[in-house]
Amino acid sequence: MIRELGLELFTQYDDGDYVLQTENGVTYYDPFQKQNPLYAVDLLTNKAQIMADNLSPQGYYEGKWTHEEKRLDSIMFSQWLRENQKEEGIGEFGVQACSAMITSAIACEPEEYSFLFFLSFLKSGQGYRTLIDVKDGVQEFRIKGGAQSISIELKKLVEKMGCKVMYDEPVKSIANTNGTVLVTTRNGTKIRARHAVCAVPMNLVPSIEFSPPLPLERQQLCEKAPMGSAIKCIFFYKTAFWREKGLSANTVSLVPPLTNVFDAGDDSGKYPALVCFLLGKNARKWSHYSEERRRQDVVDQLADLFGEEAREYVDFIEKNWVADEFSKGCYFCVPSVGVLSNYGFILRKSHGHVHFAGTETAVQYIGYIEGAIESGYRCADEILNRIEHSSKL
Ligand SMILES: Cc1cc2nc3c(=O)[nH]c(=O)nc-3n(C[C@H](O)[C@H](O)[C@H](O)COP(=O)(O)OP(=O)(O)OC[C@H]3O[C@@H](n4cnc5c(N)ncnc54)[C@H](O)[C@@H]3O)c2cc1C
Repeated sequence: MIRELGLELFTQYDDGDYVLQTENGVTYYDPFQKQNPLYAVDLLTNKAQIMADNLSPQGYYEGKWTHEEKRLDSIMFSQWLRENQKEEGIGEFGVQACSAMITSAIACEPEEYSFLFFLSFLKSGQGYRTLIDVKDGVQEFRIKGGAQSISIELKKLVEKMGCKVMYDEPVKSIANTNGTVLVTTRNGTKIRARHAVCAVPMNLVPSIEFSPPLPLERQQLCEKAPMGSAIKCIFFYKTAFWREKGLSANTVSLVPPLTNVFDAGDDSGKYPALVCFLLGKNARKWSHYSEERRRQDVVDQLADLFGEEAREYVDFIEKNWVADEFSKGCYFCVPSVGVLSNYGFILRKSHGHVHFAGTETAVQYIGYIEGAIESGYRCADEILNRIEHSSKL
């Protein structure tokens, strides 16, 4: 799709040592050395990966989970971590490191989602390493011009095809009537179509009025899978001083407020920057503080991680995703215990002429842009099949 849209990728900067911060201090390490300080995370996630690979196809694709899988949906990921920490003889640090690494990908604490969901997430991304790594992982490439270039170029493409893209028209209601769909926006704009794709995140589906009402199971599914929590901030600098110190900036911290930091410099090298993530409970706690307090706390931590030069930033931006009315969190909706096994079967089912897309409905790369794109293709196929079928009648 990137090529089709005429976009280009560039490689995420990842040269140099990684950084690990714990209550005992800051460690700089070569991520490719044998004695990786985060080896316990690999041990636990490799164990979970075997279980993820063995999820039943009927469960994973259709939501018809086996008895044992339903049991796995009744426990939180945190519970599994604790049980297996003991079995593998891993200390408290292993559990904390694993929690932080997985929170960096899900933006939720391990005590907030079911273990079955975690296994599905692992399966969807072909493994924990792929889901978080830079080299050979999902973070390896970035899009020139930023990820929003996809939407900008898609808009141009569909407009060339004679379609209209409307901004600032939040959908208020969707009615299935006489084999068509009537969508009404909060501004009163009405659009009638043969089919509609509802691609808002699951947690926002209840903000739209459906007629006839959505089945109880879909309503419950949407209400029981809230978004994770994240505050993302970027600090711009005159020089990439961390690179000069032999650091990639790739950081995982077990000390609040930050969970992760990455190099966020663009491909031109003109705008050195660090991108910082406050995730899960840290995002919730720091969202109650003023922007100045948050900024100061993050800068203090950056100085601990990379040196006093971190205080000399030339610009700063931040986005609190939890406060955004049209996402209410980040990165995606995460099911709690019992949700996948009781309501998962309805995840990809259409409602009359309304089809459901969004990264949460993907079977590959749940929670990522890749998953959102896959779900779009699935809905397009569903609609084409329905149209083809009805034209034969
Ligand atoms: C800070 C952050 C970092 C991320 N990093 C990565 C990354 O590195 N790699 C990666 O692959 N993914 C990343 N993601 C996840 C990625 O952004 C999502 O997986 C992807 O955007 C999901 O696409 P979607 O179409 O399902 O939903 P969204 O992109 O959330 O789109 C849903 C749209 O629905 C709109 N909407 C909501 N309510 C209404 C309404 N009532 N009427 C009309 N429209 C409405 C919203 O405004 C939004 O535009 C990140 C997400 C965040 C927030």
